[in-house]
Amino acid sequence: MRLPKSEENAPAARAAVDIFTKCHEWDLVKKAIAGGYYPYFIPITGEQGEEVTIRGKRFIMLGSNNYLGLTNDPRVKEAAREAILKYGVGCTGSRFLNGTLDLHLKLESELASFLKKPAALVFSTGYQTNLGIISSLVGKDDVVISDRLNHASIFDGCRMAYGKTLKFRHDDMADLERLLRHAQPRGGKLVVVDGVFSMEGTLANLNRIVELCHAHGARLMVDEAHGLGVMGEGGRGASEELGVLPQVDVLMGTFSKSFASIGGVAAGDQDVIHYIQHISRSMIFSAALPPPAIATVLKCLEILQTEPERRKRLLANAALLRDGLRGMGFDCGKSVTPIIPVHVGRDDICFALWKGLFAEGIFVNPVVAPATPPGHALLRVSCMATHTPAILNRALEKFKAVGKSTGIIGG
Ligand code: PMP
Repeated sequence: MRLPKSEENAPAARAAVDIFTKCHEWDLVKKAIAGGYYPYFIPITGEQGEEVTIRGKRFIMLGSNNYLGLTNDPRVKEAAREAILKYGVGCTGSRFLNGTLDLHLKLESELASFLKKPAALVFSTGYQTNLGIISSLVGKDDVVISDRLNHASIFDGCRMAYGKTLKFRHDDMADLERLLRHAQPRGGKLVVVDGVFSMEGTLANLNRIVELCHAHGARLMVDEAHGLGVMGEGGRGASEELGVLPQVDVLMGTFSKSFASIGGVAAGDQDVIHYIQHISRSMIFSAALPPPAIATVLKCLEILQTEPERRKRLLANAALLRDGLRGMGFDCGKSVTPIIPVHVGRDDICFALWKGLFAEGIFVNPVVAPATPPGHALLRVSCMATHTPAILNRALEKFKAVGKSTGIIGG
Protein backbone atom coordinates (compact mmCIF):
# COMPACT_ATOMS: atom_id res chain seq x y z
CA MET A 1 0.00 0.00 0.00
CA ARG A 2 1.28 3.51 -0.85
CA LEU A 3 0.87 6.33 1.66
CA PRO A 4 -0.37 9.71 0.47
CA LYS A 5 2.58 11.93 -0.59
CA SER A 6 2.26 14.21 2.45
CA GLU A 7 2.69 11.28 4.88
CA GLU A 8 5.46 9.42 3.08
CA ASN A 9 8.27 11.11 4.97
CA ALA A 10 6.39 11.90 8.20
CA PRO A 11 7.77 10.39 11.43
CA ALA A 12 5.77 7.46 12.83
CA ALA A 13 2.66 8.83 14.54
CA ARG A 14 3.03 8.83 18.30
CA ALA A 15 0.15 9.28 20.74
CA ALA A 16 0.48 12.23 23.11
CA VAL A 17 0.30 9.92 26.13
CA ASP A 18 0.53 6.20 26.68
CA ILE A 19 -3.00 4.97 27.24
CA PHE A 20 -1.73 2.98 30.24
CA THR A 21 -0.43 6.09 32.03
CA LYS A 22 -3.63 6.52 34.03
CA CYS A 23 -3.32 2.93 35.28
CA HIS A 24 0.24 3.44 36.50
CA GLU A 25 -0.61 6.73 38.17
CA TRP A 26 -3.90 5.67 39.83
CA ASP A 27 -3.09 5.00 43.48
CA LEU A 28 -6.40 5.42 45.30
CA VAL A 29 -6.83 1.71 45.90
CA LYS A 30 -3.11 1.04 46.35
CA LYS A 31 -3.12 3.52 49.25
CA ALA A 32 -6.18 1.84 50.78
CA ILE A 33 -4.51 -1.57 50.56
CA ALA A 34 -1.32 -0.18 52.16
CA GLY A 35 -3.43 1.45 54.90
CA GLY A 36 -5.20 -1.85 55.68
CA TYR A 37 -8.68 -0.58 54.90
CA TYR A 38 -9.35 -2.14 51.52
CA PRO A 39 -12.69 -3.91 51.83
CA TYR A 40 -13.23 -5.36 48.35
CA PHE A 41 -12.49 -8.64 46.56
CA ILE A 42 -12.00 -10.46 49.86
CA PRO A 43 -11.75 -14.22 49.18
CA ILE A 44 -14.03 -16.53 51.13
CA THR A 45 -12.61 -20.01 51.49
CA GLY A 46 -15.31 -22.64 51.70
CA GLU A 47 -19.04 -22.76 52.09
CA GLN A 48 -21.11 -19.58 51.94
CA GLY A 49 -23.52 -19.77 54.83
CA GLU A 50 -24.53 -17.64 57.81
CA GLU A 51 -20.88 -17.72 58.77
CA VAL A 52 -17.91 -17.86 56.41
CA THR A 53 -14.17 -18.43 56.64
CA ILE A 54 -11.77 -15.73 55.49
CA ARG A 55 -8.00 -16.09 55.91
CA GLY A 56 -8.62 -18.89 58.39
CA LYS A 57 -10.94 -16.85 60.61
CA ARG A 58 -14.72 -17.23 61.08
CA PHE A 59 -16.97 -14.28 60.20
CA ILE A 60 -20.69 -13.68 60.65
CA MET A 61 -21.95 -13.03 57.13
CA LEU A 62 -24.04 -9.87 57.09
CA GLY A 63 -23.05 -8.80 53.62
CA SER A 64 -24.58 -11.23 51.15
CA ASN A 65 -27.75 -11.39 49.06
CA ASN A 66 -28.25 -15.02 50.04
CA TYR A 67 -31.59 -14.02 51.56
CA LEU A 68 -33.15 -17.46 51.85
CA GLY A 69 -29.85 -19.10 52.80
CA LEU A 70 -30.11 -21.62 49.95
CA THR A 71 -26.57 -21.55 48.49
CA ASN A 72 -25.63 -24.45 50.70
CA ASP A 73 -28.90 -26.33 50.89
CA PRO A 74 -28.21 -30.05 50.21
CA ARG A 75 -31.32 -30.36 47.99
CA VAL A 76 -30.19 -27.46 45.85
CA LYS A 77 -26.65 -28.78 45.57
CA GLU A 78 -27.98 -32.18 44.56
CA ALA A 79 -30.21 -30.64 41.87
CA ALA A 80 -27.20 -28.77 40.45
CA ARG A 81 -25.11 -31.98 40.53
CA GLU A 82 -27.80 -33.96 38.70
CA ALA A 83 -28.04 -31.27 36.02
CA ILE A 84 -24.29 -31.47 35.46
CA LEU A 85 -24.47 -35.25 35.16
CA LYS A 86 -27.31 -35.07 32.64
CA TYR A 87 -26.42 -31.97 30.59
CA GLY A 88 -22.76 -31.25 31.26
CA VAL A 89 -21.28 -28.14 32.80
CA GLY A 90 -21.96 -25.38 30.28
CA CYS A 91 -23.84 -24.42 27.14
CA THR A 92 -20.98 -23.14 24.94
CA GLY A 93 -23.15 -20.75 23.01
CA SER A 94 -26.02 -18.31 22.87
CA ARG A 95 -29.62 -19.23 23.61
CA PHE A 96 -30.24 -18.00 20.07
CA LEU A 97 -28.13 -20.73 18.49
CA ASN A 98 -26.95 -23.91 20.21
CA GLY A 99 -27.39 -22.82 23.84
CA THR A 100 -31.09 -23.49 24.55
CA LEU A 101 -31.81 -26.58 26.65
CA ASP A 102 -35.21 -27.94 27.57
CA LEU A 103 -34.21 -26.85 31.10
CA HIS A 104 -34.24 -23.18 30.04
CA LEU A 105 -37.77 -23.60 28.68
CA LYS A 106 -38.92 -25.41 31.82
CA LEU A 107 -37.55 -22.58 33.97
CA GLU A 108 -39.22 -19.95 31.76
CA SER A 109 -42.55 -21.70 31.97
CA GLU A 110 -42.32 -22.14 35.77
CA LEU A 111 -41.26 -18.53 36.28
CA ALA A 112 -44.08 -17.20 34.09
CA SER A 113 -46.62 -19.09 36.12
CA PHE A 114 -44.98 -18.16 39.45
CA LEU A 115 -44.86 -14.48 38.49
CA LYS A 116 -48.41 -14.63 37.08
CA LYS A 117 -47.35 -13.27 33.71
CA PRO A 118 -48.08 -14.78 30.28
CA ALA A 119 -44.41 -15.22 29.34
CA ALA A 120 -40.89 -15.18 30.77
CA LEU A 121 -37.42 -15.07 29.29
CA VAL A 122 -34.25 -16.16 31.06
CA PHE A 123 -30.93 -14.31 30.63
CA SER A 124 -27.44 -15.27 31.83
CA THR A 125 -27.15 -12.49 34.42
CA GLY A 126 -29.46 -9.96 36.01
CA TYR A 127 -27.23 -7.22 34.64
CA GLN A 128 -27.74 -8.46 31.09
CA THR A 129 -31.48 -8.74 31.72
CA ASN A 130 -31.76 -5.03 32.42
CA LEU A 131 -29.54 -4.20 29.45
CA GLY A 132 -31.60 -6.44 27.21
CA ILE A 133 -35.07 -5.29 28.25
CA ILE A 134 -34.40 -1.56 28.22
CA SER A 135 -32.23 -1.39 25.12
CA SER A 136 -34.76 -3.46 23.14
CA LEU A 137 -37.84 -1.56 24.22
CA VAL A 138 -36.58 2.01 24.15
CA GLY A 139 -36.16 2.88 20.48
CA LYS A 140 -34.97 6.20 19.08
CA ASP A 141 -38.38 7.89 19.35
CA ASP A 142 -39.09 6.62 22.87
CA VAL A 143 -38.21 7.88 26.31
CA VAL A 144 -37.22 5.97 29.44
CA ILE A 145 -37.84 7.57 32.83
CA SER A 146 -35.76 6.23 35.71
CA ASP A 147 -35.47 6.85 39.46
CA ARG A 148 -32.05 8.39 40.17
CA LEU A 149 -31.22 5.66 42.68
CA ASN A 150 -32.00 2.78 40.34
CA HIS A 151 -29.35 0.09 39.95
CA ALA A 152 -26.39 0.74 37.64
CA SER A 153 -27.53 -1.99 35.25
CA ILE A 154 -30.72 -0.01 34.59
CA PHE A 155 -28.70 3.07 33.72
CA ASP A 156 -26.39 1.01 31.53
CA GLY A 157 -29.47 -0.34 29.74
CA CYS A 158 -30.62 3.26 29.26
CA ARG A 159 -27.22 4.19 27.82
CA MET A 160 -27.43 1.32 25.37
CA ALA A 161 -30.93 2.31 24.26
CA TYR A 162 -31.35 4.69 21.31
CA GLY A 163 -34.09 6.68 23.05
CA LYS A 164 -33.75 9.50 25.55
CA THR A 165 -33.28 8.92 29.30
CA LEU A 166 -34.90 11.17 31.92
CA LYS A 167 -34.16 10.79 35.64
CA PHE A 168 -36.47 11.77 38.48
CA ARG A 169 -35.38 12.60 42.03
CA HIS A 170 -35.39 9.48 44.17
CA ASP A 171 -38.90 8.53 45.22
CA ASP A 172 -40.19 11.99 44.29
CA MET A 173 -43.60 11.42 42.74
CA ALA A 174 -44.10 15.08 41.85
CA ASP A 175 -40.86 15.02 39.87
CA LEU A 176 -41.91 11.81 38.10
CA GLU A 177 -45.25 13.39 37.25
CA ARG A 178 -43.52 16.49 35.91
CA LEU A 179 -41.32 14.38 33.62
CA LEU A 180 -44.25 12.27 32.46
CA ARG A 181 -46.21 15.42 31.67
CA HIS A 182 -43.41 17.20 29.84
CA ALA A 183 -41.89 14.30 27.96
CA GLN A 184 -43.60 14.35 24.60
CA PRO A 185 -41.76 11.64 22.67
CA ARG A 186 -42.87 10.72 19.18
CA GLY A 187 -42.86 7.14 20.45
CA GLY A 188 -43.71 5.65 23.83
CA LYS A 189 -42.73 6.07 27.50
CA LEU A 190 -41.24 3.48 29.82
CA VAL A 191 -40.92 4.12 33.57
CA VAL A 192 -38.32 1.93 35.31
CA VAL A 193 -37.85 1.53 39.06
CA ASP A 194 -36.20 -0.82 41.51
CA GLY A 195 -38.98 -2.53 43.50
CA VAL A 196 -36.61 -2.73 46.49
CA PHE A 197 -33.77 -0.20 46.46
CA SER A 198 -30.63 -2.24 46.82
CA MET A 199 -28.72 0.04 49.20
CA GLU A 200 -31.58 1.65 51.16
CA GLY A 201 -33.79 -1.42 51.65
CA THR A 202 -36.87 0.69 50.92
CA LEU A 203 -39.74 -0.05 48.54
CA ALA A 204 -40.65 2.05 45.50
CA ASN A 205 -43.95 3.89 45.77
CA LEU A 206 -45.46 1.50 43.26
CA ASN A 207 -49.09 2.36 43.93
CA ARG A 208 -48.55 5.98 42.95
CA ILE A 209 -46.20 5.06 40.11
CA VAL A 210 -48.85 2.75 38.63
CA GLU A 211 -51.42 5.58 38.79
CA LEU A 212 -49.04 8.02 37.13
CA CYS A 213 -48.08 5.58 34.38
CA HIS A 214 -51.74 4.96 33.71
CA ALA A 215 -52.60 8.64 33.62
CA HIS A 216 -49.74 9.44 31.22
CA GLY A 217 -49.82 6.44 28.90
CA ALA A 218 -46.50 5.01 30.12
CA ARG A 219 -45.53 1.37 30.57
CA LEU A 220 -43.96 0.26 33.87
CA MET A 221 -40.94 -1.98 34.40
CA VAL A 222 -39.99 -3.05 37.94
CA ASP A 223 -36.61 -4.54 38.88
CA GLU A 224 -37.37 -7.13 41.58
CA ALA A 225 -33.75 -8.25 42.08
CA HIS A 226 -34.05 -7.81 45.87
CA GLY A 227 -37.79 -8.37 46.08
CA LEU A 228 -38.05 -11.89 44.66
CA GLY A 229 -38.17 -14.50 47.38
CA VAL A 230 -38.30 -11.76 50.01
CA MET A 231 -41.33 -9.48 49.77
CA GLY A 232 -44.99 -10.21 49.06
CA GLU A 233 -47.24 -13.00 50.31
CA GLY A 234 -45.74 -15.52 47.87
CA GLY A 235 -42.26 -13.97 47.55
CA ARG A 236 -43.01 -12.29 44.21
CA GLY A 237 -41.48 -9.02 45.30
CA ALA A 238 -42.42 -5.44 46.10
CA SER A 239 -45.03 -5.51 43.31
CA GLU A 240 -46.89 -8.29 45.09
CA GLU A 241 -46.33 -6.74 48.52
CA LEU A 242 -47.97 -3.51 47.34
CA GLY A 243 -50.75 -5.25 45.40
CA VAL A 244 -49.75 -4.05 41.93
CA LEU A 245 -48.29 -7.18 40.35
CA PRO A 246 -50.96 -7.27 37.59
CA GLN A 247 -50.22 -3.62 36.72
CA VAL A 248 -46.48 -4.15 36.26
CA ASP A 249 -45.94 -4.47 32.51
CA VAL A 250 -42.42 -5.92 32.65
CA LEU A 251 -41.14 -7.58 35.78
CA MET A 252 -37.39 -8.14 35.98
CA GLY A 253 -35.69 -10.43 38.49
CA THR A 254 -32.27 -11.89 39.22
CA PHE A 255 -31.27 -15.36 40.36
CA SER A 256 -28.14 -14.16 42.13
CA LYS A 257 -29.87 -13.42 45.42
CA SER A 258 -32.75 -15.47 46.88
CA PHE A 259 -32.32 -18.05 44.13
CA ALA A 260 -28.70 -18.74 45.09
CA SER A 261 -27.51 -18.88 41.50
CA ILE A 262 -26.83 -16.52 38.63
CA GLY A 263 -29.03 -15.28 35.80
CA GLY A 264 -32.07 -13.12 35.36
CA VAL A 265 -35.63 -13.09 34.08
CA ALA A 266 -37.92 -10.73 32.20
CA ALA A 267 -41.62 -11.52 32.55
CA GLY A 268 -44.59 -9.90 30.83
CA ASP A 269 -46.86 -9.98 27.83
CA GLN A 270 -46.21 -12.68 25.16
CA ASP A 271 -45.46 -10.24 22.34
CA VAL A 272 -43.22 -8.06 24.49
CA ILE A 273 -41.15 -11.03 25.65
CA HIS A 274 -41.03 -12.42 22.11
CA TYR A 275 -39.74 -9.06 20.87
CA ILE A 276 -37.07 -8.77 23.58
CA GLN A 277 -36.00 -12.36 22.93
CA HIS A 278 -35.23 -11.58 19.30
CA ILE A 279 -33.89 -8.05 19.63
CA SER A 280 -31.86 -7.96 22.82
CA ARG A 281 -28.12 -8.00 22.17
CA SER A 282 -27.23 -9.02 25.73
CA MET A 283 -29.20 -12.23 25.14
CA ILE A 284 -28.23 -12.96 21.55
CA PHE A 285 -24.52 -12.19 21.78
CA SER A 286 -23.77 -13.95 25.06
CA ALA A 287 -23.71 -17.59 26.11
CA ALA A 288 -26.65 -19.26 27.81
CA LEU A 289 -27.11 -19.88 31.51
CA PRO A 290 -25.32 -23.18 32.37
CA PRO A 291 -27.28 -26.30 33.46
CA PRO A 292 -26.35 -26.33 37.18
CA ALA A 293 -27.33 -22.65 37.46
CA ILE A 294 -30.77 -23.36 35.95
CA ALA A 295 -31.34 -26.44 38.11
CA THR A 296 -30.43 -24.39 41.18
CA VAL A 297 -33.08 -21.80 40.37
CA LEU A 298 -35.73 -24.46 39.70
CA LYS A 299 -35.06 -26.10 43.08
CA CYS A 300 -35.00 -22.77 44.93
CA LEU A 301 -38.29 -21.81 43.31
CA GLU A 302 -39.80 -25.07 44.55
CA ILE A 303 -38.45 -24.50 48.08
CA LEU A 304 -39.71 -20.91 48.12
CA GLN A 305 -43.21 -22.11 47.29
CA THR A 306 -43.28 -25.11 49.61
CA GLU A 307 -41.52 -23.54 52.61
CA PRO A 308 -43.10 -20.11 53.13
CA GLU A 309 -41.80 -20.12 56.71
CA ARG A 310 -38.30 -19.46 55.33
CA ARG A 311 -39.38 -16.05 54.05
CA LYS A 312 -41.08 -15.33 57.38
CA ARG A 313 -37.88 -16.18 59.27
CA LEU A 314 -35.96 -13.87 56.97
CA LEU A 315 -38.29 -10.96 57.74
CA ALA A 316 -38.24 -11.71 61.47
CA ASN A 317 -34.43 -11.75 61.39
CA ALA A 318 -34.41 -8.44 59.50
CA ALA A 319 -36.67 -6.89 62.15
CA LEU A 320 -34.43 -8.17 64.96
CA LEU A 321 -31.30 -6.75 63.36
CA ARG A 322 -32.88 -3.46 62.29
CA ASP A 323 -34.53 -2.81 65.65
CA GLY A 324 -31.31 -3.74 67.44
CA LEU A 325 -29.21 -1.34 65.36
CA ARG A 326 -31.73 1.49 65.64
CA GLY A 327 -32.00 0.92 69.38
CA MET A 328 -28.24 1.55 69.70
CA GLY A 329 -28.56 4.82 67.81
CA PHE A 330 -27.48 3.79 64.31
CA ASP A 331 -29.30 5.54 61.47
CA CYS A 332 -30.91 2.79 59.39
CA GLY A 333 -32.99 5.11 57.23
CA LYS A 334 -36.39 3.82 56.22
CA SER A 335 -35.47 0.21 55.53
CA VAL A 336 -38.38 -2.24 55.61
CA THR A 337 -36.54 -5.21 54.07
CA PRO A 338 -33.57 -7.47 54.95
CA ILE A 339 -31.31 -4.78 53.45
CA ILE A 340 -30.43 -2.53 56.36
CA PRO A 341 -28.24 0.49 55.64
CA VAL A 342 -26.21 2.09 58.40
CA HIS A 343 -25.91 5.66 57.17
CA VAL A 344 -22.62 7.28 58.13
CA GLY A 345 -22.06 10.03 55.53
CA ARG A 346 -18.29 10.41 55.23
CA ASP A 347 -16.25 7.77 53.38
CA ASP A 348 -13.46 7.70 56.00
CA ILE A 349 -15.95 7.07 58.83
CA CYS A 350 -17.59 4.35 56.79
CA PHE A 351 -14.26 2.60 56.21
CA ALA A 352 -13.32 2.97 59.90
CA LEU A 353 -16.58 1.32 60.94
CA TRP A 354 -16.10 -1.44 58.37
CA LYS A 355 -12.53 -2.03 59.53
CA GLY A 356 -13.52 -2.23 63.20
CA LEU A 357 -16.31 -4.69 62.45
CA PHE A 358 -14.10 -6.78 60.19
CA ALA A 359 -11.53 -7.07 62.96
CA GLU A 360 -14.35 -8.34 65.21
CA GLY A 361 -15.40 -11.01 62.71
CA ILE A 362 -18.37 -9.25 61.13
CA PHE A 363 -18.62 -9.17 57.32
CA VAL A 364 -20.56 -6.17 55.95
CA ASN A 365 -20.16 -3.99 52.85
CA PRO A 366 -19.01 -0.36 52.88
CA VAL A 367 -20.76 1.53 50.09
CA VAL A 368 -19.43 4.86 48.86
CA ALA A 369 -19.89 7.01 45.74
CA PRO A 370 -20.69 6.29 42.94
CA ALA A 371 -22.90 3.52 44.39
CA THR A 372 -24.38 6.19 46.70
CA PRO A 373 -24.56 9.96 46.18
CA PRO A 374 -21.23 11.59 47.29
CA GLY A 375 -21.16 12.26 51.05
CA HIS A 376 -23.79 9.59 51.72
CA ALA A 377 -21.57 6.62 52.47
CA LEU A 378 -23.24 3.73 54.23
CA LEU A 379 -22.59 0.25 55.49
CA ARG A 380 -24.89 -2.20 53.79
CA VAL A 381 -25.97 -4.83 56.29
CA SER A 382 -28.18 -7.72 55.22
CA CYS A 383 -29.38 -10.91 56.83
CA MET A 384 -30.51 -14.38 55.85
CA ALA A 385 -33.40 -16.69 56.73
CA THR A 386 -30.91 -19.15 58.20
CA HIS A 387 -29.26 -16.79 60.70
CA THR A 388 -30.27 -17.73 64.23
CA PRO A 389 -31.28 -15.01 66.70
CA ALA A 390 -28.21 -16.01 68.74
CA ILE A 391 -25.86 -15.24 65.82
CA LEU A 392 -27.60 -11.93 65.15
CA ASN A 393 -27.42 -10.92 68.82
CA ARG A 394 -23.70 -11.74 68.82
CA ALA A 395 -23.29 -9.48 65.78
CA LEU A 396 -25.27 -6.70 67.46
CA GLU A 397 -22.91 -6.77 70.44
CA LYS A 398 -19.99 -6.21 68.07
CA PHE A 399 -21.82 -3.35 66.34
CA LYS A 400 -22.35 -1.71 69.72
CA ALA A 401 -18.69 -1.96 70.69
CA VAL A 402 -17.31 -0.78 67.34
CA GLY A 403 -20.00 1.91 66.95
CA LYS A 404 -18.93 3.37 70.30
CA SER A 405 -15.19 3.07 69.73
CA THR A 406 -15.51 4.88 66.39
CA GLY A 407 -17.76 7.53 67.91
CA ILE A 408 -20.64 6.78 65.53
CA ILE A 409 -23.01 6.04 68.38
CA GLY A 410 -22.90 7.54 71.85
CA GLY A 411 -22.36 5.89 75.20
N1 PMP B 1 -30.71 -5.02 39.65
C1 PMP B 1 -30.45 -4.77 40.94
C2 PMP B 1 -31.40 -3.90 41.71
C3 PMP B 1 -29.32 -5.31 41.54
O1 PMP B 1 -29.05 -5.04 42.82
C4 PMP B 1 -28.45 -6.12 40.77
C5 PMP B 1 -27.20 -6.75 41.36
N2 PMP B 1 -26.81 -6.43 42.58
C6 PMP B 1 -28.74 -6.35 39.43
C7 PMP B 1 -29.89 -5.79 38.90
C8 PMP B 1 -27.84 -7.18 38.57
O2 PMP B 1 -28.03 -8.52 38.85
P1 PMP B 1 -26.90 -9.63 38.78
O3 PMP B 1 -25.89 -9.36 39.85
O4 PMP B 1 -27.68 -10.87 39.05
O5 PMP B 1 -26.32 -9.58 37.42
